Amino acid sequence: MTSHRPPRDRHVRVLATLGPASSTPEQIRALYEAGADAFRVNMSHGDDAGKLALIAAVRSLEGRLGRPMTILADLQGPKLRVGRFADGRVDLETGAAFRLDLDPAPGTASRVQLPHPEILAVLRPGHRLLLDDGKIVLRVVEADDGHALTEVVVPGTLSNNKGVNVPDVMVPLPALTSKDRHDLSLALEAGVDWVALSFVQRAEDVAEARKLIGGRASLMAKIEKPSALDDMDGILELSDAIMVARGDLGVELPPEEVPGVQKRLVGMARRAGKPVVVATQMLESMIVSPSPTRAEVSDVANAIYDGVDAVMLSAESAAGKWPVEAVSMMDAIARKVERDAAYQQQVGFVETLPEPTTADALCAAARSIQATVGARAVVCFTTSGSTARRVARERIPANILVMTPKLSTARRLGLTWGVHAIHTRDIGSFEEMVAKSKRMSLRNHVAVPGDRLVVMAGVPFGVPGSTNVLHVVRVVGDELDRHTRR
Ligand code: PEP
Repeated sequence: MTSHRPPRDRHVRVLATLGPASSTPEQIRALYEAGADAFRVNMSHGDDAGKLALIAAVRSLEGRLGRPMTILADLQGPKLRVGRFADGRVDLETGAAFRLDLDPAPGTASRVQLPHPEILAVLRPGHRLLLDDGKIVLRVVEADDGHALTEVVVPGTLSNNKGVNVPDVMVPLPALTSKDRHDLSLALEAGVDWVALSFVQRAEDVAEARKLIGGRASLMAKIEKPSALDDMDGILELSDAIMVARGDLGVELPPEEVPGVQKRLVGMARRAGKPVVVATQMLESMIVSPSPTRAEVSDVANAIYDGVDAVMLSAESAAGKWPVEAVSMMDAIARKVERDAAYQQQVGFVETLPEPTTADALCAAARSIQATVGARAVVCFTTSGSTARRVARERIPANILVMTPKLSTARRLGLTWGVHAIHTRDIGSFEEMVAKSKRMSLRNHVAVPGDRLVVMAGVPFGVPGSTNVLHVVRVVGDELDRHTRR
């Protein structure tokens, strides 16, 4: 993989969901050219062939452009749904009694199937049931293993198979449903780089998924359940990244609590040096309109000011009328925010204290050296990607050029703040490290003659986890001609 495209003109990454509006190789290429850095395949929708076609289209684009591409498969998770109604829908009036039970018979205005006995088993009087993204609210009056009798608190029209959220109790469901297990093996066999786990409730859910994935992809925990917030240290410890999944989070929590939770989660992930993605409704109005609302632009900008690694588009790029424009808009917002003098200051509000490791000591030094000598780029030789993530954690205002002999590492780094990863042969000597840093930074347009570079690597070369070299070099004009090209 050898194309030398310039890095994006920004550090934050754009994660675009693929779907009917962005399924052909040409459409996906247009999203990439507009600024999409990574692609999400939502495993909740479509059939296996359609999902495999999306993954294959990204990989073929990767081959054509010669740039590592990042693919995230987002598992549906244990999404709860009501059954079907005799007339397709019913109107639920305030104060009415409404029963949920296990009977598959078509529903009426007084009852419907809830085909999840494990949920009925834990419901108690007073618990809330939120239907259809929280538009309808029921409160449990009485419950046993076979049914729950509820009172309608917030009325509305309920139709077939609408989603049910149960925010007041830890639901005794496995981390992965049988559909998730099927989708997981499909995605892993197709070679995705990241897997997102939905409705994580506790660290054990992440541990279970980790075991199944077995290192074949990185794992992102979607934070959308209040119970997850009580176990965040454990969840973060076992995850490679987190997503602030504001869609379901905003149903399960009062919406006014979501911004504070978002900021807390972003801070926690940044301190841990794990990528954090902010997702859902970021440019929602662009599903139907070519321009976003001012509030949406502010929402995207504020997430970027908080120093997130990535901002995500959902239906805007998957099923909207203006997918390319939505990506361009995110790209434009990010470039504008990152040029604002306040950006660096605000990003610094999250204090990332070094852990007592050689890698962190060198990263802190790299930050200080970059600021002192105004180095244009930090060049990082890494096998596992861990040094690159520790450098990114410092939010150094420079390009981070990562060179790795592992294609999977280059691909997985596509969700990490500021990283421009190149898949290339490993270095074997100090001299080669210096020469390759200079040559590749010129060739990849991360530096111009006269610029200084801060170079990080590990000796002995080629041994993962050995970062122990920090070196400052100056690029000169004839670098491309003086050294062997490869
Ligand atoms: C969310 O709920 O915000 C989310 C990203 O999950 P999904 O789109 O899979 O419902």
